[in-house]
Amino acid sequence: MNIALMAHDAKKELMVQFCIAYCGILSRHNLCATGTTGKMVAEATGLEITRYLSGSQGGDQQIAARISCDEIDLLLFFRDPMTEKSNEQSEMDMFRLCDMRNIPMATNIATAEVLIHGLERGDLDWRDIVNPNK
Ligand code: PGA
Repeated sequence: MNIALMAHDAKKELMVQFCIAYCGILSRHNLCATGTTGKMVAEATGLEITRYLSGSQGGDQQIAARISCDEIDLLLFFRDPMTEKSNEQSEMDMFRLCDMRNIPMATNIATAEVLIHGLERGDLDWRDIVNPNK
C-alpha cells in the first residue's frame, strides 16, 4: 500500500512517536510525506520515505495529485485544530479528493491507530482489488 504522512508543526512529534510505535508495519509499505514531516520521521525511524515539498510550499498539493491519480491508499494527516493555516483550502481540497475516491484518512492519532491496525489485519486489501495496476 502507498501511505502518505503529514503533520502540522504542533503534531509532528506525535507523528514521529506514532511512526516509531508502528515502524514494523509501516516498513512493509511505500511511504511518502510532506517535507519536514518526512525528514523527522525518516531520521527517527530509518524508514524510507519519498519526501515532497513542505505543505505550505505545495507539498499537500503534490500528495493531492497522487490521490487524484489513485496512487495513495491511506492518508495519515495529524492536524493542529488550534492554528489557522495559510494553505487550509488546499488541505480541504485534499480531503475532498480522499472522499471522492474512498481513500481512508485519519486526521488525528485516534483514527490513525484504528486504521493502522486495520491495515495490518488486511482490512484495506480491497484497495488492491479496486486498483490492481498500482
Ligand atoms: P511539512 O508540511 O511536513 O513540510 O511541515 C506539512 C505542513 O504544512 O504542516
